[in-house]
Order: sequence, then structure tokens, then C-alpha cells
Amino acid sequence: SAKELGRNSFRLFSSELAERRTRRMESETALRRALKGKQLLLHYQPVVDLKTGAVTRAEALVRWNDPTRGLVMPAAFLPLLEDPELAHDVSVWVLEQACKQARAWRDAGLGGLVATVNLSSMQLRDATLMPALKRILTRTGCEPTWLEFDITETGLMRDYEGTVQLLTKLRSLGVSIAIDDFGTGFSSLAHLRNLPVDVLKIDKALIADVGGTSKAKGAGTGGAIVSAILGLAHGLGLEVIAEGIEKKSQVTFLAREGCTHGQGYHLCPPLTPTDLAKWLKARKKK
Ligand code: C2E
Ligand code: MG
Ligand code: MG
Repeated sequence: SAKELGRNSFRLFSSELAERRTRRMESETALRRALKGKQLLLHYQPVVDLKTGAVTRAEALVRWNDPTRGLVMPAAFLPLLEDPELAHDVSVWVLEQACKQARAWRDAGLGGLVATVNLSSMQLRDATLMPALKRILTRTGCEPTWLEFDITETGLMRDYEGTVQLLTKLRSLGVSIAIDDFGTGFSSLAHLRNLPVDVLKIDKALIADVGGTSKAKGAGTGGAIVSAILGLAHGLGLEVIAEGIEKKSQVTFLAREGCTHGQGYHLCPPLTPTDLAKWLKARKKK
């Protein structure tokens, strides 16, 4: 009967939920162990000034070196980060590494390089993030102006008022703020004017659609969207970084449209700190 069916599907539904919860808790335990066991590491991907070729910043991207699974990418373990305490511990670890790195770049004569750190919505809602950051800055000898935070539109929308307050405080410290994956959400065009941000990072999905010969339906319209975003950013006095640049033709298009900065495999993939230092040195010699 329908009643029975309903009951069964309810049972199925709740058992599925329970299973998902168990899986998440197991993953959180594993991630906590990875953090303690020093299995997390950061790769850094440079952001390049498309006109001068100068490297202005490098984005810290977390990886998990799992003894059995090998190098695990953030998409496979970060969405599981729902426990506020674990989210805080991951923030602290990433921030500490990035601040030490920014300090090390200066000690190595690679001054001017800003370290970009990603913050998820869970990490943004952490009331202890600010005091923790201040302690880390002091401990590592890192200046706030050597840091930039990437936040997504979704991260912002989860708690708009609270996040705006936090971003305002961060900026008054001297940290710069970027909106990551811009153009994939729905919300921000109207809000953008009131947001305490410095940089827009145009999502790679939009960049994939420019400067190419794609025959997909609507191909080329991405160019119009990217140009519109560039116009908007310019009007608001924001810096722009195009993400996911994989081809030279994209650089050509973006530079012509007045996009100042780019990031992507075509320019440089994410590298270990050692490989990044080598890459930067080799580039300087050219
Ligand atoms: P994101 O902040 O937008 O970072 C850019 C992502 O695009 C990185 O993926 C990078 O490896 C990838 N990428 C770079 N160039 C290209 C390209 O030319 N083509 C394509 N298709 N992809 C490119 P990754 O490292 O897998 O990171 C994925 C996301 O995970 C990041 O996206 C960020 O949202 C998040 N994430 C990474 N590290 C952290 C972290 O320490 N904390 C937090 N909260 N999130 C992080
Ligand atoms: Mg980012
Ligand atoms: Mg992005």
C-alpha cells in the first residue's frame, strides 16, 4: 500500500542519512588524524600580472598526503569539514604555514609576494579566527599585508552580516580580500558595491569559454560575460584575477579586455614551496 511504501521510503531515507552522517564522522576523524600526523601540505600556485609577467601572489592549496591513497585533493575532503572545531584547527594550520611561507619568501629576497589563503563558510563563521590570526601573525613575523583571503559568494551568503563584519576587521588589519569563483553564484552583483573586498577572481568555468574555438551551444557568450565582469570590477575599483587559464589565446583575450591578473595551468600549476622557489628563480633569469 501507499502507506507502507511511504514508511519504507522513510526508513530508506533515514538510514541513508544515518549512513551519510557516519561516513562524515569517519572522514572527520581521519582528517583530524591527518592533521595531527602531519599528512597535510600546501602547494602554491602563482598569480601573474598579465602585462608585466610579474608574480604578485601565490595561492595556498591544501593537499592530503594519505599513506594509502596518495595525494588527495581538497574537493575530496574539505566539503566534509562541518565540525566547527576541526574547521578551526585546519584554518590555524593553513594560516600558520602560509604566514611562515610569506615570511620565508621575504627572507629569500622574493619580497612582494602575497600568500593567498582560502576560507570556507564554516571557517568564516569561526568567532575565534580573528584572535587566532593575530597570534599567528605575531608568532611567525608575518605582516597582515602579506596575506590575502579568498572567500566564495556562497561562503559569504551563509551569514552575510557576520561575514561583512569579519571582512571589515580583516581589511582594517591590512589583509586584502578576494571573492573567489566569481560568476558562479547568483547574488553578488548588487551586493558587490557594499562589500569590503579588493579583488574579484573570475571562475574558471567562465574563462574556459573565452579565446577558444569551442563549438558548444552559446560558445563565445562567455567572452561577453567576462568582459561585463571586467567592466563592473573596473567601475568598482576592484582588481581582477582570471582563474583557470589553460591556453595562450585566453591570455590574449583577457589582456586585450583589460584583465590585469591571471592564474592557471598555462601560466604555472600549483607547486611545492621548493619547486615554486625554483620556478621563480628561473623566471627571474629570463
Ligand atoms: P580555488 O580556490 O578556486 O582554487 C583554484 C583551483 O583550481 C585549485 O584546485 C587549482 O589547482 C585549480 N586550477 C588551477 N589552475 C587551473 C587550470 O588552469 N585549470 C583547471 N581546471 N583548474 C585549475 P584545488 O587545489 O583542487 O582546490 C580546489 C578548491 O578547494 C579551491 O578552489 C578552494 O576552494 C578549496 N581549497 C583549497 N585549499 C584550501 C584551503 O586550504 N582551505 C579551504 N577552506 N579551501 C581550500
Ligand atoms: Mg581560491
Ligand atoms: Mg576559484
